[in-house]
Amino acid sequence: MEIANNSKAIQNNNFQLPRRIRRLSDLAYNLWWTWNGDAVRLYQLLDAELWEATEHNPVRLLREISKARLTAATKDRYYLDAYDEAIKHFDGYIKRVNPTWYQETYPAMQNHPIAYFSTEFGLHETLPFYAGGLGVLSGDYLKEASDLDFPLVAIGFLYTQGYFKQHITEDGWQEAEYTSLRFSDLPVLPVSDNHGEALIVSVQLAGRTVHARLWKVQIGRVSLFLMDSDVQLNQPSDRSLTARLYTSDLELRISQEILLGVGGVRALRMLGFNPAVWHFNEGHSAFMTLERLRELAAAGMGLEEAIAQVRRRTAFTTHTPVPAGHDEFPLWIIDKYLNQLWNEIGFERESFIDLARQQRPWGEVFSMTVLAIKMSGRCNAVSELHGQVARKMWSFMWPEVSEEDIPISHITNGIHTNSWLARRLKHLYNRYFDENWEDHLDEAAIWKAVDKIPDAELWEVRRHLKRKLVSYMLERARQPWYAGKIHPIQVVASGVLLDPYALTIGVARRFATYKRANLILHDLDRLLELVNQPGRPVQIIFAGKAHPADEPGKRLIQDVYQAVKRAEFGGRLVFLEDYDINLARHLVQGVDVWLNTPRRLKEASGTSGQKAAINGVINLSVLDGWWNEGYNGHNGWALAGTDDGENEDEADSTDAATLYAILETQVIPLYYERSADNLPNEWIGWVKESIASIGPIFSMRRMLKQYAKQVYMPAIREPSKLKNL
Ligand SMILES: *Cc1c(COP(=O)(O)O)cnc(C)c1O
Repeated sequence: MEIANNSKAIQNNNFQLPRRIRRLSDLAYNLWWTWNGDAVRLYQLLDAELWEATEHNPVRLLREISKARLTAATKDRYYLDAYDEAIKHFDGYIKRVNPTWYQETYPAMQNHPIAYFSTEFGLHETLPFYAGGLGVLSGDYLKEASDLDFPLVAIGFLYTQGYFKQHITEDGWQEAEYTSLRFSDLPVLPVSDNHGEALIVSVQLAGRTVHARLWKVQIGRVSLFLMDSDVQLNQPSDRSLTARLYTSDLELRISQEILLGVGGVRALRMLGFNPAVWHFNEGHSAFMTLERLRELAAAGMGLEEAIAQVRRRTAFTTHTPVPAGHDEFPLWIIDKYLNQLWNEIGFERESFIDLARQQRPWGEVFSMTVLAIKMSGRCNAVSELHGQVARKMWSFMWPEVSEEDIPISHITNGIHTNSWLARRLKHLYNRYFDENWEDHLDEAAIWKAVDKIPDAELWEVRRHLKRKLVSYMLERARQPWYAGKIHPIQVVASGVLLDPYALTIGVARRFATYKRANLILHDLDRLLELVNQPGRPVQIIFAGKAHPADEPGKRLIQDVYQAVKRAEFGGRLVFLEDYDINLARHLVQGVDVWLNTPRRLKEASGTSGQKAAINGVINLSVLDGWWNEGYNGHNGWALAGTDDGENEDEADSTDAATLYAILETQVIPLYYERSADNLPNEWIGWVKESIASIGPIFSMRRMLKQYAKQVYMPAIREPSKLKNL
């Protein structure tokens, strides 16, 4: 099937752009701009206020901007130089003017596409198709896949409402606001065939046919195709199938997962892809393996051979050790929704259920993770420690194999450096790092050069970033206050009393109870003393959403909010609403210390601390997930953490006491110890060590090269060594 040229769709967007700067529209529809600060500047310079008001949305900006501003830009030498430079850079990137890493490393592998499935993609704040870590990781993955030039194509959902916006009431209760997105306002384009007809995929759901149309998001050189069931062909109830992420309704959920897995394969086929490797994230998309079995069965292949073939080409990454993160369905739902599919593949019911059977205290269930593991030739966890936990967790599937031989390996998560590094810091690194440092950003030697940066210069940038965070918070507080929407105490709670020169700790993550975002509030009297020391103030910024159905998570937010509102804390504790990529970017760049205190062995990896580290923020974390590998004794602080499974209250008390002690005896003194020229030289030494030791290793660059070498190439080149399960 031919896909229509996108430029036509872009032109139809009725931007009234002067010729001289008309390429701004191409740029708007390629998310390459999101990680290239010089491209972001092109929009910001046009109209900084509108840029903020549209939440950094170039499509809306170009549509809503005044003609006068555009005309002025075409007469501004400085603007035009910046424009020409950015467009030249963009075109060179897209046209591969320089040979790319993938071309050079795997020259024979260009025509072996890799399909990447995820339920969420966190690419930018204008595209709210993510709930948290998994989404942001998938988004970063696509950006790096573009940079390295992987022949990768991704598939997911275009949620009509996205994830919710969070509001906190005066008494600290989270309210979820859903609004319908206008896709024409977003940098996404409908996919149509050569005759202008929308491309539609269809799947069977419990006896009826459900359709979804396809959209495309372009991320540099990588395309992400998104399915959307809100089409007229569908019954009204099916039109809202892809409205929201992670519904708790099991029938809705399995319907989504069938659409993602089965529909996703069909979408790629329709678009003409024949992937050599199929990589999926979490069990949500595991049904894609069944659709591929069905294809092989339809082509006449026997079941056993078909299973072997699918496994050889399939890679699965598990992202959480928390049981609630693993979908399982009661068998009656499987009977209702998959009966037709297993018949078409040629399964008997029992042997089909065997593919995913898990014994639970409450009976047998169909586990999406068991299915995922059984149908994948390669499985991996997302940190070394998570690998151990995952091998233990799924060892029941291999009763004869000892735990360390369970075939689940690990590749530790990383971040897309350019998406998270502050522009100012990047400019500083440009001056002191090797000239081509961005081409080598996974090499330790490159980052060692941080030692060459004079303390005063690095500190000046750190201070700038904290001031920027504080002014961002003030603006965020001002708007609802103007609008008369909030109570004065909520204004205080949103950070208007913060001091841009005080030691600032950031605690931002999803509010799930095991993450213990409130650990630092364990002993409020001790905390009071700690934050209010004369001459050494400490402030703490909290942010994070709880899943709308997670009542304990919402109570956790309320606990935090109660503390934040207490006058004794003097406005030094803050809760910022609506944690998203934009807020995350400000926080990981602006605070001094990044605090993470989950129950040990519950955090698969975590990546926010990596984002903080490259910006010169120091981590203080439980030795879990990535930090268990990243911590080296002089690049941050570690809480040994008490293992899950012990008495939880006792564990919390012990961990909280250790946390206070580290803050009192190490973090605070180090931060406030100043030289004659008022520089915290020792602190800056830790900052440099943190940047140098974490920057290269916990990058997406390192991570994707590992996926290529350890997962994709073996899957393409050799048959799977694993026996069928
Ligand atoms: C990076 C990021 C996450 C994941 O970070 P964790 O360390 O796992 O909490 C979640 N949400 C947002 C908005 C992020 O930017």
